[in-house]
Amino acid sequence: MITELVSVGTEILLGNIVNTNSAYLSEKCAQLGLSVYYQTVVGDNPKRMKEAISTALGRSDIVILTGGLGPTEDDLTKEITAEVMGFPLVEDPHSRELLEAYMKEYEKNNSQRRITANNYKQAMVPKGALVLDNHNGTAPGLIMEKDGKTAVLLPGPPMEMKPMFEEGVFPYLRRLQPEMIISQMVKICSIGESQVADEIQDLIAMQDNPTIAPYAKTGEVHLRITAKGENEKECRKLIKPVVRELKSRFGKNIFAIDEQKTLEEAVVDMLRDQGLTLALAESCTGGEIASRIVSVPGASEVFGHGFVTYSNRAKRKFLGVKKTTLKLQGSVSEKCAKEMARGGCLAAKSDICLSVTGLAGPTGGTEETPVGTVFMGCCYNDKIIVREFHFTGNREKIRQQAAAHALSFLRECMLEGVIRKD
Ligand code: ATP
Ligand code: MG
Repeated sequence: MITELVSVGTEILLGNIVNTNSAYLSEKCAQLGLSVYYQTVVGDNPKRMKEAISTALGRSDIVILTGGLGPTEDDLTKEITAEVMGFPLVEDPHSRELLEAYMKEYEKNNSQRRITANNYKQAMVPKGALVLDNHNGTAPGLIMEKDGKTAVLLPGPPMEMKPMFEEGVFPYLRRLQPEMIISQMVKICSIGESQVADEIQDLIAMQDNPTIAPYAKTGEVHLRITAKGENEKECRKLIKPVVRELKSRFGKNIFAIDEQKTLEEAVVDMLRDQGLTLALAESCTGGEIASRIVSVPGASEVFGHGFVTYSNRAKRKFLGVKKTTLKLQGSVSEKCAKEMARGGCLAAKSDICLSVTGLAGPTGGTEETPVGTVFMGCCYNDKIIVREFHFTGNREKIRQQAAAHALSFLRECMLEGVIRKD
């Protein structure tokens, strides 16, 4: 089914906010097997909104709109969509009730602020529309159907939009699809996108049902296998041999076959399973790896210390990196990464320490150590393995790549079991 996303808001056109709603919804539509052929952004201007919504409903079966459902004058998405589709607006008693309850609570907790009468406009809904409760705000979501076309209206704030989509819209759209579509994710790390693409060239060339779609993320490659069938069982049966084949080709480089699982979660799980504690000694990543690790609930079981030793002084003081190492080899060197990793283990009394030191640029590069050079060390049981990486791109990109590869590197070191002595 042809699907179009319409993001409403002048602030998106002006570049004041990034259109993350579209990225999220596109991904969800792909999971549902809906073909997103158009993404439109339109400002809060009634005439242009009307044009955009009419055009979208003319060329697409499903139109998903976000933004402009709030109480203010320029929030017009509902009014205009209802007008284009020919629905009058009527008050929805249930939404009115929820709104009143929300407001009472709000006024109780925010004595300085009053909710004004225009909020009640949010309880007005197009006649016959399916109303979706908003558990995180005031504007309900709406689904309208007419002449084989479906319009889905969702609030703009992602915190409200996403849960509403998951709860009410995803199951609804799934039912609209005549065929069942099931997809399964295979997430790979430690090998680049082009190598993955090369190794599955034959599978991609002969794909039909299921299809395999690769997506590159920083330091990871995701493969989405999507099957169409009459029911879930049939789809799973089609997906199974493909996942088996991918497992045989990529083996240990597959860190998850679960859509939600992140690389940091996989790493934390592994540390927990092996009963190991981790410390981090970061320089150029500035705590980014620690931040990713602690984003995992329960990370405290395995992670206690993260050193951000950005200066040479800090590397010496907290990790015991030798003065001569810094003088002779420099801070971006194999030796420094080794000493950082060993020092981190000792200082934190942890089983493992992962160190990262590199040059994120844009200045400071030399012929010998160009910008993007990063050394990582992993110390375990007094054994240390060091690896040299060369990343490209700007400072931010280099730092992000270093953090992602550090997690993969740590995972590889744990998979090897005993870290080689060199
Ligand atoms: P509100 O009741 O908050 O006014 P609304 O449904 O009217 O909600 P908008 O006024 O269009 O939505 O947007 C409110 C906020 O939601 C924006 O300031 C922005 O922070 C966020 N937002 C809106 N659209 C998007 C989008 N496409 N992507 C990411 N964030 C968005
Ligand atoms: Mg608004």
